[in-house]
Amino acid sequence: MSSPRTSDVLVIGGGIIGLVTAWRAAQRGFATTVVDPAPGGGAAQVAAGMLAAVTELHFGEQTLLGLNLASARRYPDFVAELTELTGHDLGYRRCGTLAVALDTDDRAHLRELHALQRQSGLESEWLSGRECRRLEPMLAPGVRGGLRVDGDHQVDPRRLAGALLAACERAGVVFRRAWAERLSVVGERATGVVTRDGTALGAGQVVLAGGSLSGRLAGVPQDVLPPVRPVKGQVLRLTVPQRYAPFLSRTVRAVVRGSQVYLVPRENGELVVGATSEELGWDTTVTAGGVYELLRDAHELVPGITELPLTETRAGLRPGSPDNAPLLGPTGLAGLLLATGHYRNGVLLTPVTGDALAHALATGELPDEARPFAPRRFAAAALSELPA
Ligand SMILES: Cc1cc2nc3c(=O)[nH]c(=O)nc-3n(C[C@H](O)[C@H](O)[C@H](O)COP(=O)(O)OP(=O)(O)OC[C@H]3O[C@@H](n4cnc5c(N)ncnc54)[C@H](O)[C@@H]3O)c2cc1C
Repeated sequence: MSSPRTSDVLVIGGGIIGLVTAWRAAQRGFATTVVDPAPGGGAAQVAAGMLAAVTELHFGEQTLLGLNLASARRYPDFVAELTELTGHDLGYRRCGTLAVALDTDDRAHLRELHALQRQSGLESEWLSGRECRRLEPMLAPGVRGGLRVDGDHQVDPRRLAGALLAACERAGVVFRRAWAERLSVVGERATGVVTRDGTALGAGQVVLAGGSLSGRLAGVPQDVLPPVRPVKGQVLRLTVPQRYAPFLSRTVRAVVRGSQVYLVPRENGELVVGATSEELGWDTTVTAGGVYELLRDAHELVPGITELPLTETRAGLRPGSPDNAPLLGPTGLAGLLLATGHYRNGVLLTPVTGDALAHALATGELPDEARPFAPRRFAAAALSELPA
């Protein structure tokens, strides 16, 4: 079936990654459509919004670090542009982060992370437990030491999604509130999608930005289908009453019994506590166990949280990829690009993804900083594993 060409660029998925792609594409003059039954939803409704290039550094992820840092550097201008255009306050807070250790094992792990950060040229300062508590008096007396990282900030992902929606609307992006059922392929080229109600939407180029569902779109050839999986995260939202403010002045995080826990204080009094990491398919049930573990670990870090009203519990799905890094740009199928697999850094990577995809849509090439994240890295790995 041939599709009528109704737009230059059709983006499947209106999460923050699809929206930033659509906005930047429209700014470049492409007639752009987003297909999503509920644009502005997705994982950003759950995410904490840490912009944590330094404290999220993991061994073996130095390539991703380059992209994370490139995006972190763009954040101030990105927020200023979006705010000026839409009038939305994104809750961008340049507050820094304190990563602390509660026992000797955690302390040793944090020391190693500090060494890796310094080898990578990152700014991060080791503090004693007493120095940590001087910065954040609500911390538990048992804190053994920590890393002060003044460059890891935060944004409110819900506000970011709202601002991106408004920016897209202003730039003339068309929204189709529908489910894309199947990619249309004619010859060797992606030509659009067919929605669940059978409507064919044509496009010169299609960007698949379906978050954790990106690997499930029918019609995408097997060797091009992104290897993306859902990684569930449960998150709590508490409120800091005025009489306790400022409860925390920066993001505080730790590894407690092998699990990550963080507390992200917003300027409006919201305190986000996250997050579990569970491989359970597309399940988004909030469980008693998940809430219990988060509260238990957060309480060990900051005992005073038990006084705060618990206002929301929610679970979302991170789009995980085999190397924890995103898949960006052209695929082996002409006319199909990917913007997916952002896993635990999708909020941080929003600015650089928008720029990289707009560049790829206009030129067919990724900009230098995004080249290591071309989807073909997985196709090549799969081919080399085939028996001779
Ligand atoms: C608990 C948790 C905490 C997090 N914390 C942070 C953090 O602190 N910092 C950070 O940087 N990142 C964080 N993240 C990660 C970040 O939220 C995600 O990487 C990012 O939101 C992914 O955005 P996305 O647009 O790619 O996908 P999604 O948000 O999943 O959006 C995909 C959209 O595509 C739509 N869609 C899918 N398939 C189709 C289809 N066939 N047709 C039409 N529409 C379709 C869906 O409806 C959805 O709206 C966190 C995530 C979670 C879950």
